[in-house]
Amino acid sequence: MAEITDMMKDLAESAAKKADVTYKVTRLRFRRSALAKLLDSQYKELGREVYKMCRQDGGDAEEIEAMAVQIERTHRRIDAIGQQIERVLEIVRCPVCGRVAKIKNPRCAYCGTQLAATEAEPEENETDFITSGEEIQL
Ligand SMILES: [Zn+2]
Repeated sequence: MAEITDMMKDLAESAAKKADVTYKVTRLRFRRSALAKLLDSQYKELGREVYKMCRQDGGDAEEIEAMAVQIERTHRRIDAIGQQIERVLEIVRCPVCGRVAKIKNPRCAYCGTQLAATEAEPEENETDFITSGEEIQL
């Protein structure tokens, strides 16, 4: 009887963990897609400014540089979210073939490259996460 109870407890725990992972990943993907939209609008703005400059109709080189810096920043934030998603899903990307592998696997299943022993990285502080999210202007 005790075995069945333990089994049911394990099942419940694993279901709860899956639900938690799904929730976290959904949130991160939502955040990432908001950032992708932001990035599109930043590129559009940059394009307009460059166009003006090409047509000698204004366009400010300093402004263009500042926009490029913003774009780089958005790219970095998108990459960081991608890494967070991989952490939540407990996957890593093989440094050689780029395929996805489970963190616990010692080697890539496709090319056999030894995967770095990934130590559990501390999850990003929830407060920081929310604060950085609030910077998104849509
Ligand atoms: Zn590989």
